[in-house]
Amino acid sequence: MSGNVEALYQEIILDHYKYPRGKGLIADAAGESFQVNPTCGDEVTVSVKLDDHGHLHVGYEGQGCSISQASASVMSELLEEASVADVARAERAFLEMMHSKGAAEPDEDVLGDGVAFAGVSKYPARIKCALLPWMALQDARHKAGIEFDKVEKTEG
Ligand code: ZN
Repeated sequence: MSGNVEALYQEIILDHYKYPRGKGLIADAAGESFQVNPTCGDEVTVSVKLDDHGHLHVGYEGQGCSISQASASVMSELLEEASVADVARAERAFLEMMHSKGAAEPDEDVLGDGVAFAGVSKYPARIKCALLPWMALQDARHKAGIEFDKVEKTEG
């Protein structure tokens, strides 16, 4: 990753931190999850529901470091009104990228601004910050009964 790309990624993260997209919980959520990252002091709550067309609606609240809060904003923007298949694809791609130790070449079509966290995967102490909203999403969608196994089987 070149210095220019890294600087651009940092700008994207700071922009989402300063101007969070779609912040706020869903009133009639089907599932909600509160997650804490004790090593950094980050907190994120994610709420989800599916509408009648099978599209996800995602809300969030939180406080903490720029990486955790920007990650929540990026996730919410990326997944708002996404199909369950697209949510599954994005979740898998983000988790893979964060476990790549900086080696990932993330797909912007799948991850949107989420690609900006590729550089964070080099810093073990910050990986949990970036993953926190996605962990909350996983738990919230489990509670809402939104599972991916069916999707993956039909895709395969
Ligand atoms: Zn953090």
